[in-house]
Amino acid sequence: MRIPCKLDMLLANLNPGYNGIIPDERKCMPEIVLNLHMHTRFSDGAGLHADIATAAMKAGLDAVIVTDHNLLVNGPAGYYKEGNQRVLLMVGEEIHDQARIPQKNHLLVFGAQRELATYAYNPQLLVDAVANAGGLSFIAHPVDPAAPSVHEADISWVDWGVRGFTGLELWNGFSEFKPRIRSRLHAIYYAYFPRRIARGPLPEALHRWDDLLSAGTKVVAVGGSDAHSHHMRMGPLRRTVFPDGFHFRAINTHVLLPRPFGMDAIADSSMVLDSLRQGHCFIGYDLPASTRGFRFSASGLESSTEMGGELNCKGGVTIQIRLPRLAECVLLKDGTPVRTWHKLELCTYITSQPGVYRVEVYIQYLGRKRGWIFSNPVYIM
Ligand SMILES: [Zn+2]
Ligand SMILES: [Zn+2]
Repeated sequence: MRIPCKLDMLLANLNPGYNGIIPDERKCMPEIVLNLHMHTRFSDGAGLHADIATAAMKAGLDAVIVTDHNLLVNGPAGYYKEGNQRVLLMVGEEIHDQARIPQKNHLLVFGAQRELATYAYNPQLLVDAVANAGGLSFIAHPVDPAAPSVHEADISWVDWGVRGFTGLELWNGFSEFKPRIRSRLHAIYYAYFPRRIARGPLPEALHRWDDLLSAGTKVVAVGGSDAHSHHMRMGPLRRTVFPDGFHFRAINTHVLLPRPFGMDAIADSSMVLDSLRQGHCFIGYDLPASTRGFRFSASGLESSTEMGGELNCKGGVTIQIRLPRLAECVLLKDGTPVRTWHKLELCTYITSQPGVYRVEVYIQYLGRKRGWIFSNPVYIM
């Protein structure tokens, strides 16, 4: 039994709907760190599944999802172990229409358990086929501008009329890199100082997401590395740009699970996919500082929910945000900031207004303010 504290009394006075139970303490969902968009030699990556598993264990990840282009390579899925470490390697796919010129509309597909690349020519058919197969579909790098200096084309998503996808890859490490490289010199600079790249999801991707949420569509946001371990050659310079080990310490998706991982890779994979489907996850940029421990939940008259869930606003709702360390924390309602905290690790906000609430957290790192955490929404009805 939790002993009521000063915070409880304060919240009870402010909000008659507060039931004295901080939602996270009621359920205490275990958290895993997942990196979910990467390529192997089976498409255009440099390493193999075992190399990815080794790099993931070194980086302290709990799970990865390998997503080769238009190819489902199911065999290597399972737990990989080294010493007392282990990582769950899951296999998905990144599907796009290879005949389409220019190239657009990349879709990450998880959990479909069968090859669906034949539907790539029609994004709506593909999304529907994934749903029918019981899988999840995430729009990959929804906004992905061209980088002419390194001959990279714009491969954004363009068919925004498509409905029924699970979510989108709000923060993609490579999409953010492309507009930074205005010349070959920029490319060299960032190849040697990759820690200076990430600042947050591209503003246009955030606007797209907020527009979809405001239109009443539930869209789960995830963060992806798009790891390829590119090899760069320029005159005498040779460098592996963004090795997997770097990506795995950077933009991750943190997933809240109903129970800890066990010994069964299939059951554990299905639990991860269920939590992703429900939006019980947040995007964490773990390079400046680990984002493990972030929580965003809401408690109403009769129930409470983690991010991704719904709650009735009748009687008032108490929103609670817990940060792993002090940082700038912004609560947004329907895409507009409603409150910012600078010096609190436990932030609370009471509302009776329906809306889509989500959280952005910013941190100072390498001389500038950078995005650190982007939560999925709580839907207050
Ligand atoms: Zn792609
Ligand atoms: Zn990719």
